[in-house]
Amino acid sequence: MTVRTRFAPSPTGYIHLGNVWVAFLNWLWTRQHQGTIVLRIEDIDRQRCRPIYAEALQEDLTWLGLDWDEGPGASYAYGSAVQSERLDTYQAILDRWKREGRIYPCYCTRARLRQIASAPHPGEEAPGYDGHCRDLSPEERAKETKTPSWRFRMETEAVAFTDLLCGPQRRTLYAGRDDFVLLRADGMIAYQLAASADDGAMGITHVFRGRDLLSSTADQICLLQKQGGSVPVYGHVPLLVDADGVRLSKRQHGITVRDLRAADVSAEKILGKLLFWAGAVPEGTALSAQEALRSIGWEDCRALSKPAIQADFSF
Ligand code: GLU
Ligand code: ZN
Repeated sequence: MTVRTRFAPSPTGYIHLGNVWVAFLNWLWTRQHQGTIVLRIEDIDRQRCRPIYAEALQEDLTWLGLDWDEGPGASYAYGSAVQSERLDTYQAILDRWKREGRIYPCYCTRARLRQIASAPHPGEEAPGYDGHCRDLSPEERAKETKTPSWRFRMETEAVAFTDLLCGPQRRTLYAGRDDFVLLRADGMIAYQLAASADDGAMGITHVFRGRDLLSSTADQICLLQKQGGSVPVYGHVPLLVDADGVRLSKRQHGITVRDLRAADVSAEKILGKLLFWAGAVPEGTALSAQEALRSIGWEDCRALSKPAIQADFSF
């Protein structure tokens, strides 16, 4: 089997250590398995994404020595690797599912959805949707004037998979409660649909990403299966957190690759720090991506089965 992986950043800002952590681990694993890396630009949120950030992230990855095989600026068997150029693909899935009744229009107002979300739900982890619009009659639908969102018509099912890093996982998806939105009323395609459609279309065999996405994996597996795609193997890497346990994000200062470059921190130091967090090298190690490829095995990254890693970002 040829390994195909993807790094799928959303260009909403300059990439930071949390993004590079995922990119580097994915790169290391894929290169050690002679696989192909797709750089997929997840820019369907037009409000938050900017082309300059998509360009900057390619420049930052290149500066770090992390290359990719397929990506923006070229066309492949599946088309473009930029999600804003793939909207027809997602729309075609939605059109087919509309015809098949697999998705249905939801006219609920924001206020109503907020109310369901805040109602007490004994013994349930997340409230979810209440299925209100699932079985509206054609007459009831005809009376609505609001532009609807479109929800997936879930049939209750258990989804099980074994995560490379987190072990066996099992989640039951419920009809109604897990009828997630695939197309928002404002026309925006949901991340879950775009990501699952692309993982299928791009023939992705292994997905490495942050643990924050572990809980949406069952949804994506379900969507992928309904599209007839094959399900990749997932490896959810620990989140990097600061001394207060707060997840690394753009809110912490001085952690973008741009900031670090401006402060004269070398790519080797950054990669060494990431491998130190992974448990593979002693503190203070500096090494290039190619050196890491030659000297570090995946099994050396002993900290990757932890849920979170406390990272101090002083260089
Ligand atoms: N675009 C998503 C993010 O930036 C990545 C989602 C994924 O890897 O599936 O968090
Ligand atoms: Zn509704």
